[in-house]
Amino acid sequence: MTAAGARVPDCLFCRIIAGELPAEVVAETERTVAFRDIGPQAPTHVLVVPREHHADAAALYAADPMLLADTIAAGVRIAEQEGVAETGYRMLLNTGAHAGQTVFHAHLHVLGGEPLGALAGGGLKTIG
Ligand code: 5GP
Ligand code: ZN
Repeated sequence: MTAAGARVPDCLFCRIIAGELPAEVVAETERTVAFRDIGPQAPTHVLVVPREHHADAAALYAADPMLLADTIAAGVRIAEQEGVAETGYRMLLNTGAHAGQTVFHAHLHVLGGEPLGALAGGGLKTIG
C-alpha cells in the first residue's frame, strides 16, 4: 500500500518534482513547486504543484487541508511575481472528468496576462 502523499513512480508531476523530467521552474517552497505549463493557455500559465502526491484537489483537501491552502497561497505569490496581480488572474483546480483533468497529481493553474474570457479553455455553458 502506498502511504498518503508518497511519491508515485509513474506520475508525471512526481517525476518533474524529483528532477527526472525537465520543467521551467519559477518558484519553490518547502511544500510546493511551481513551473510553466507546457501548453500555455494565457501569457502567464503556471502550475503550482504540492510536492506530495495527491490525485486531485479533493484528495489533497481530505489528506492535508493546510497543504491545499499553501498551494493557493503559492499561487497568489506567483501572480505577484509574474506581474499579473494588478490586472487580474484566474486560479483553477480541475477535478475529475467533467473538468477535463488530465494529470492526476493535484495542481493549481495560475492564468493571466490578458483578459481570460468566461473560463480559460471554453465559454460558460448556459443552463436552463
Ligand atoms: P489538467 O488538465 O489536468 O488540469 O492540467 C494538466 C496540465 O498539465 C495541462 O495544462 C498540460 O498542458 C500540462 N502538462 C502536461 N504535461 C506537462 C509536462 O510534461 N510539463 C509541463 N510543464 N506541463 C505539462
Ligand atoms: Zn504525483
